[in-house]
Amino acid sequence: AKVRILLLAGGQSGEHEVSLSSARGVLAALPKDRFEVTPLVISKEGRWLPPADTTRALEAGVAETGGDLMLRGVADAASFDVVFPLLHGPNGEDGTVQGLLTLAGIPFVGSGVLGSAASMDKAMTKQVLAAHGIPQVPWRLLTRAQVRRDPAAALTAARELGFPLFVKPANMGSSVGISKVRGEDELDGALREAFAHDRRVVLEAMTQGKPRELEVGILGNDAPMASPVGELRFDADFYDYETKYTEGRATMHIPADVPHAVAEQVRTYALAAFRALDCAGLARIDFFYEAATGQVYLNEVNTMPGFTPTSMYPNLWAAAGLSYADLVTRLVELATEDR
Ligand code: ADP
Ligand code: MG
Ligand code: MG
Repeated sequence: AKVRILLLAGGQSGEHEVSLSSARGVLAALPKDRFEVTPLVISKEGRWLPPADTTRALEAGVAETGGDLMLRGVADAASFDVVFPLLHGPNGEDGTVQGLLTLAGIPFVGSGVLGSAASMDKAMTKQVLAAHGIPQVPWRLLTRAQVRRDPAAALTAARELGFPLFVKPANMGSSVGISKVRGEDELDGALREAFAHDRRVVLEAMTQGKPRELEVGILGNDAPMASPVGELRFDADFYDYETKYTEGRATMHIPADVPHAVAEQVRTYALAAFRALDCAGLARIDFFYEAATGQVYLNEVNTMPGFTPTSMYPNLWAAAGLSYADLVTRLVELATEDR
């Protein structure tokens, strides 16, 4: 029998459009003889669109408004074998939707509430990684309330880290709200931008020079496997939104041209992080590699990585011999596996 998948896409986050393009990729790439995929788009208002509106939204690439209450959508979801929450960012990748599906008793692809929430929040991720001795760049957490109470707190944290540094909303993705801050005069603007997306903001020391960016795919539940390591190369100051989503601005290199020991280290740390954060199903774990020093730093964990046929995650597994359709089949199996 065909596997019946409910594909959730869009959602309330700054990565709404990215999610819709991943969904279009999945719909086009999955073999019709093995899968019956029903898309359901969530509007930017967080409401679940009926089928006709979903089709329109997929074509338009965005759904600003409209939709029904999500609880009614959940009742419909119960008639599928599995839900694939192809949602990025807050209210999608952060454990909220995962909690709703857990309450409804519907199996779903990917991490549960804890793994999703802990991996979404960059500060929480760092705290867990630190407890497990996984290397990362020096960082500081600032909350909106803290900065309101003590406006000098940000400058103090920034001076401790040194410039240039990165300012990021703790819960976001696709580089939305991220700035590279070159000096004290750029700090306020960067904080305002980051705090517009989250009440928790992370300041991060920059690597020594522009890092090489290595990514590894993890697949599995309690016995996860690591893919070969891939590298992203691009011609920009850092991997910002425009560079990520403008065709041809970045190229993927699989396997990454790095020493064998570096690749093995990256895979080992990625597996350790996946377990430490209680992830499940899949994750793409991203690293910085300082070629000058040979040091690797874990940057972040994405529990629902970009998933178009040209995205890094499926291509890392293709390099390991797993086709796009086989990868989705495996994810569905993992979603329904006894643990
Ligand atoms: P997102 O979750 O939005 O992808 P990231 O933390 O991955 O956010 O940051 C986006 C990009 O910014 C990275 O891919 C990298 O190019 C650059 N960057 C972020 N933090 C640092 C850092 N500490 N040092 C050097 N570059 C960084
Ligand atoms: Mg991310
Ligand atoms: Mg990133």
